[in-house]
Amino acid sequence: MGLFDKKPKENLNKKSNIKSINDYQWLALDVGTENFKARYVNIGLTYDAPTYLAEDYEKNVILYGEEAKALIDKTNENVVIKRPVRDGNIADPDALQRILAKIFQDFRLEIKDSKQADKNRNLIVLMATPSEINSVQREALENIVHRLGALRGFVQEEVKMAALGSGQDIFGTAIMCVDIGGGSTDIAVLSNDSILYSYTTHCAGDYLTQKIQEYIAKKHALKIGTKEAEDVKKNIGSLLKYQDEKPYTISGISLPRLDSQPGETMSISKTIEITPEEIRENVMQVQFREHVIPSIRRVLRTSGEKAAGSVSDLKKKGKGITICGGGAYIKKIDEFIKEELAKEYFIEVKAEKGTKPIRQKYEGDIFEVRVAQNPLDNVIDGCVKYRDTIYKKLIAEQNPNREILTKDEDLG
Ligand code: ADP
Ligand code: MG
Repeated sequence: MGLFDKKPKENLNKKSNIKSINDYQWLALDVGTENFKARYVNIGLTYDAPTYLAEDYEKNVILYGEEAKALIDKTNENVVIKRPVRDGNIADPDALQRILAKIFQDFRLEIKDSKQADKNRNLIVLMATPSEINSVQREALENIVHRLGALRGFVQEEVKMAALGSGQDIFGTAIMCVDIGGGSTDIAVLSNDSILYSYTTHCAGDYLTQKIQEYIAKKHALKIGTKEAEDVKKNIGSLLKYQDEKPYTISGISLPRLDSQPGETMSISKTIEITPEEIRENVMQVQFREHVIPSIRRVLRTSGEKAAGSVSDLKKKGKGITICGGGAYIKKIDEFIKEELAKEYFIEVKAEKGTKPIRQKYEGDIFEVRVAQNPLDNVIDGCVKYRDTIYKKLIAEQNPNREILTKDEDLG
């Protein structure tokens, strides 16, 4: 073997100094208001539980996930239930850190003080959070996972990950995603891997559950728990008439009626039947027309102003609107959104300061509207897919002078 034969081999070795995507460990996290999902990609471990934590001061224990959620409506002064993500925001970073620490422990990931941290640790954490969180919260989250032992933490908007996970091309021209979670409905038009414009309404899962509870209290003088109201929503919650509608039986505690007579006897527990139609007409349609539909229109209008052509792009075949998140399971949601957007609508516009607002008429628009497959998994699926993009960012950071990276070279 001649001396020169060795040269190409050395070059090859040099090239392999760049870590391949599989040299890193990847942890994807969907930090939802209602559900917390994690996937430890390299080993295929998963975690999926309600984003709840309960502290029982009497028994001195901390409960997580289902066990903690089960204590809602049953708490006494010794039990405190914590929901770290509320209304599309990180409301309790400390509780979130504890849930994360538990996941790290469950997955047997290193937990070390950052001072003694092993320089070779290679865990990359990719987190999807509500789009509305600010840069301080974003940085705080990245620091939390760093403290827990990760090499790096990256935060991405939940709605973007949902769109990617639902199979849409977030790297191309305009697409629209409506992610209806527990605490917020995030609506966005995206293109070129970024959000063109997004808007969040708090009319989402928890809010609809609460409105069902209020309606049943007012109309039927029956107090039902949060869990029962959520079951009503999941079982008969609909936006248009659906096949095989049947009344639904619920139990609760009688409330005194406004017209009750003094001395009238009241049974404490009561069971009644409610119909899908009354929930649809008095709760679901009302709330969607008041909050969700105007929010979608607002995102469409503003995106159109920001990027000419984005709305006509959305009207093309195969594009349109994809509905993700648990709320996508509401019966007939796709047909209802399509029908409502096609209707003409009015907006009050102020022409000049001091003048009366003018009611301006707008024509409706026709879009394809579809419900994503496995809507509860879109965000975590998106995070797993987005690993390629993060990997390219990492390589670009380490090798700022390196030219265009090709998939074959760097994705191993
Ligand atoms: P988050 O991202 O905020 O954690 P998810 O996308 O996991 O929220 O969705 C949770 C919400 O979806 C809850 O409010 C839950 O009640 C609602 N949900 C789940 N299944 C259904 C269903 N079949 N019908 C209506 N709503 C549902
Ligand atoms: Mg979500």
